[in-house]
Parts: sequence; structure tokens; C-alpha cells
Amino acid sequence: MARAAIGVDLGGSHVMAAAVDEAGLIHARFEHEIEDHDPAAVIAALADVVRSAIAATKHDVAGIGIGSPGNIDPSSGTIRYSPNFGWENVPLGQRVRDAFPKYPVFVANDARCATLGEYAHGVGQGTQDFVLLTLGTGIGGGIVAQGALSLGHQMGAGEIGHHTIRPDTGFICACGKVGCFEAQASGTGLIRHAFRLAPSFPRSALLDPPKDDDPRPWRDRLGSKRIRKAAQRGDAHAVAAWSAYCEDLALGLSNVIAFVNPEVIALGGGVSSAGDFMLEHVKPLVEARTTMVPRGTTRIVRATLGNDAGAVGAATAAMRGGLIARATPAAAGQIVA
Ligand SMILES: [Zn+2]
Repeated sequence: MARAAIGVDLGGSHVMAAAVDEAGLIHARFEHEIEDHDPAAVIAALADVVRSAIAATKHDVAGIGIGSPGNIDPSSGTIRYSPNFGWENVPLGQRVRDAFPKYPVFVANDARCATLGEYAHGVGQGTQDFVLLTLGTGIGGGIVAQGALSLGHQMGAGEIGHHTIRPDTGFICACGKVGCFEAQASGTGLIRHAFRLAPSFPRSALLDPPKDDDPRPWRDRLGSKRIRKAAQRGDAHAVAAWSAYCEDLALGLSNVIAFVNPEVIALGGGVSSAGDFMLEHVKPLVEARTTMVPRGTTRIVRATLGNDAGAVGAATAAMRGGLIARATPAAAGQIVA
């Protein structure tokens, strides 16, 4: 029988489980909203969608892979800490193993899983040195070097969003530092650039709230898409915010090139929907900041798997026995994509 694995994408507001075959194709998908961040409630919701995915697939299930936010102990699958959930030392891997004793269970950081997904089945295929950066509420990332996913000494490799690019003038990051790449160049960063520049555009309507009955604070509803679209239309305030944003994005990308010298950097997440409009702005700025690495040798492209990258990567890890949750931490360093 053809093989599949269950890939789980665990996010702050919902959990998705999918049956993914060896070609990286999704055959069945189940989602559950998450309202309560209590570990027992989250794990119950996760087990529910995993159970549905196992029941729905006609394939032989090789294992369960889970991509979760936070720093994760690879030997046990325990979440050491996850700011998104407010968790510390939650034994996620063991709880899922208890619920599904028939299957091997692997737990890894969600951004690393997405990187593995794009590398094995998306735009990273065929390369040896690859970086994924997801430009959403934050910046998630991951590095593939010499064909292997980089995990680091304590699973911290790939936290590209938290390298500092504007220590003096930057925005405060969710991690507590000032001027992190994530604070400047995520979708949230684009909104913050627009607010910072607002005094220079007193007649701009870019940030005005709509006249509707939605009770949620406007700032929470204002997405980066509104600013991106206005920049594409030529709105002066939005163009200024977009330019400041692209400068910061390019600064971080040039640092990534200096550290990793990847063949391809793939950009995913909401902001990357701007496509060529973003790439045309950013590529020359990156070129200008690239010095010791031969210019033009890193291709900057859009990621192709979208929101499915995390689940596909988690399933890929489970299928290949790559993210070893039961073995020694040393074994986790052997993840070969
Ligand atoms: Zn940070």
C-alpha cells in the first residue's frame, strides 16, 4: 500500500492535520479552531484532527509529524517554551504518543517544518543551500545547508527573525529586543512603518478606520495587505512605508546571504503575495548590500506551498524518520531533507 504520514500544523488560533503522501501531496485535511491555550485543550483538539486524518486516508500511515511554535526538545518532543501559547515544558510529544501508540511521533518547530516542506516538495527542490522566510505576523525561517536542515546546538538555528538590524531606531519586537528583523520586515513591520510615517502625511486616509460596526480595535484589523495594495496604486503615504519596509527587508536578506550564501531564498507569508512588486523593489537593494558573496548568485523567489508548507514538512519528517523524537538529540542532527 502507498505510504503517507500525518502532518500537523499547530498555530495559535487553529490546528490542521493532513494526510500527506510521499510526493508531498495532501489527500485529506481537517482543521479545528483553538480558543483555549490550556495544554490539555490544545492537545485534545490536535488529537481530534489527527484521528480524522488517519481515518480518512487510504494510505499506510508511517507516522505523525507535528510542527509547533516554540523551542522543542528533539529527544522527547517536549515544548521547552512557546511564547505563542504561554507554555513551558509541555510534553506534547509524549501526550500524542499516548493517544496514538501505534505510530511514531515527531515534534519540531513549525518554521523548521515549513522549511523542510518547501525544500523537499516546493521551490527549494534541487538546491543544496536554501533559506525559507515567511513574512507574516512575525518572520519564521529555516536554513538548509549542504542538503541538511540546520537545527543548531539547542534547536535554535534558523531564528532569523530575531537578528537585530535597527538597534537604535527600530520597533520593539515581540521577543523584547529593539529592531529585530521580524519587528521591521514582517507584515506587522509594514504596518508599523506606515504608522511611524503618518505625521509626514497629515492628509493621508491610509490608516483611517472604516465606518462599520465591527467592535474589534481598528489597529488589530488593519492588515499589511491594505498598505501593500495602496503602495501598488501609488498612494504616497503607502509608497513611503513600502520603501522603508523594503529597505529593512533587504538589509536582513543581505545578512542572510552573508551568513548562509544560499542558492535560493524563498519568501512566503502574506507580504510575499505582492510577488513581482516586492521582488523588483527588494532585489536591487539586496544587490547593493551584498559585498563579499558573489552578487546575483542567490535567487530570491516566492515560496510555492503557501500555508501548507508546515504540514507537508512535518509529514515529510515523520515519513523519513527525520525529526527523531525518541532517539538521542545527536540523531536529530542527522535530519537530511
Ligand atoms: Zn525579536
